[in-house]
Amino acid sequence: MDLPRQVIIREVGPRDGFQSLKTFFSTTDKLDVIEAIYRAGVTQIETTSFVSPRAIPQLKDAAEVMAGVSRQGVIHAAMVPNMEGAEKALAAGADQLVVVISATEAHNRANVRRGIDASLADLDGIFFLARQQLVPVVGAIAVAFGCPYQGDVPSADVFDIANAYLEKGAVSVILADTTGMATPIRVTNLAGEFQRRFSEPELIFHFHNNRGIAMANLLAALTVGVIRFDTALGGIGGCPYVPQASGNLATEDVVFMLEDMGVYTGIDLSKIIQAARLLEKRLGYTLPGQVMKSGPRDPEKAA
Ligand code: ZN
Repeated sequence: MDLPRQVIIREVGPRDGFQSLKTFFSTTDKLDVIEAIYRAGVTQIETTSFVSPRAIPQLKDAAEVMAGVSRQGVIHAAMVPNMEGAEKALAAGADQLVVVISATEAHNRANVRRGIDASLADLDGIFFLARQQLVPVVGAIAVAFGCPYQGDVPSADVFDIANAYLEKGAVSVILADTTGMATPIRVTNLAGEFQRRFSEPELIFHFHNNRGIAMANLLAALTVGVIRFDTALGGIGGCPYVPQASGNLATEDVVFMLEDMGVYTGIDLSKIIQAARLLEKRLGYTLPGQVMKSGPRDPEKAA
């Protein structure tokens, strides 16, 4: 197989995962888990989201979390749904902003309570603020592979938003399969179209595992040269506005597969498994990750 030699993993569990929890996960628990992720060698973490605490009470401690994390050699990104979120994230010291717009009107209204045009209109202000503080902005597109309300999503709608992000100066674009509707052929098609339209910018894929196909999707993306992926510790996560939502691909499962195939992640498998087990212990219920249960190939490390 012709695979890249190295990939960059963005750990999104602290945002995508923690936002989906039913009961409040304490700030201390969040910080302990983020520290364990950091110690495993993860260099990019989506650490929290600056959203209305009424909409997502789980992340009401976003500023405290951002203030409490280890900073050396790691980028702590914050998701921001709007201008107010961007102001708060920058004030809290986020290293990077992740703005999010859904590829469909219905999901955008459910997710951020307004239409796509209103979200797009906010971009100028957000990018201006971030640029003043030399903070890079990543543009995320939710439901890029299908929408729980509208079904199929035309790729033109996805690329209209990608284009808007890149015109404003986004450093990367995340194509998110928020609903786990992608399949490998859809992934290679969308990646190919992205690469043909935009040569420079970084493309990040964000796969949820609602239908059990996320790892196959990641492998398909690798074969066409995509090297950036969002994953979540233990496979936690799931959009609050997707019925029957599932988590992201488990970070430790991805590290296990890639490292065994000779694709460098920079993440220590044993340590990231420990981090996933810590998260499971603190949450008090079983997580979907597989390698955290089965262990690495090395029998001595498997226990
Ligand atoms: Zn997600």
